[in-house]
Amino acid sequence: MLKVEMRSLEQEDLVLEEKDWAQALGIELTPELCREPLEIYCELSKNGDVISAKGWVQSKMVLECDRCLKGFESWFKSFFEVHYRPQCQEMETEEEFPEEQFEVVYFDGDILDIADQIRQTVLLSVPMRALCRDDCRGLCGGCGCDLNVESCQCQEPPADPRWDALKKLKF
Ligand SMILES: [Zn+2]
Ligand SMILES: [Zn+2]
Repeated sequence: MLKVEMRSLEQEDLVLEEKDWAQALGIELTPELCREPLEIYCELSKNGDVISAKGWVQSKMVLECDRCLKGFESWFKSFFEVHYRPQCQEMETEEEFPEEQFEVVYFDGDILDIADQIRQTVLLSVPMRALCRDDCRGLCGGCGCDLNVESCQCQEPPADPRWDALKKLKF
C-alpha cells in the first residue's frame, strides 16, 4: 500500500517499503516503463501541517536507442522529495515558499496517497537521449543497415545533409 493515514504520522515518522508490479500498486504505467516490479522506499514525516515524503523508486524500463532505434532494457533508480500540504490552507500562494526546492502538492482528507508521486517519478526517469551502449554505431545514413551487426555495403559515405544548402548556392 502506498497510502498513509494522517493519524499514524502524528506520533512518529514512517517508512514505506514496497516491491510489487505497478498495476498491483494502483499505478498506471505502460509495460515499457516497468519491466520489473517497482521497488519503492519512502520516508514520511509530519511537521506542523506539512508532510514530507522523501525516497526513491527503482525498476527497469525499455528505452529506444537514439542511434540504432532498437529497444533495450535499462535499470533506473530515481529519487524524489515532495511536500504535501492540506488543501484547506487555500489562501497560501506559492510565493510564500520561495525557499522550497521541492514540489509542493496539496491534498485533501485523512489519507495520503503517494502513488501519483511514484508515477511521476518514473515518468521523469525517461532520459531525453538514450544509447543502447556508449559505442553504439547506429544506422547507416545511406542504406539504413544496423552498423552494430553488419558492415555497410554503401559505396561511399552518405552525403552530409548539412552541405546541401551550400551546394545550392551560386557563386
Ligand atoms: Zn543503439
Ligand atoms: Zn549503408
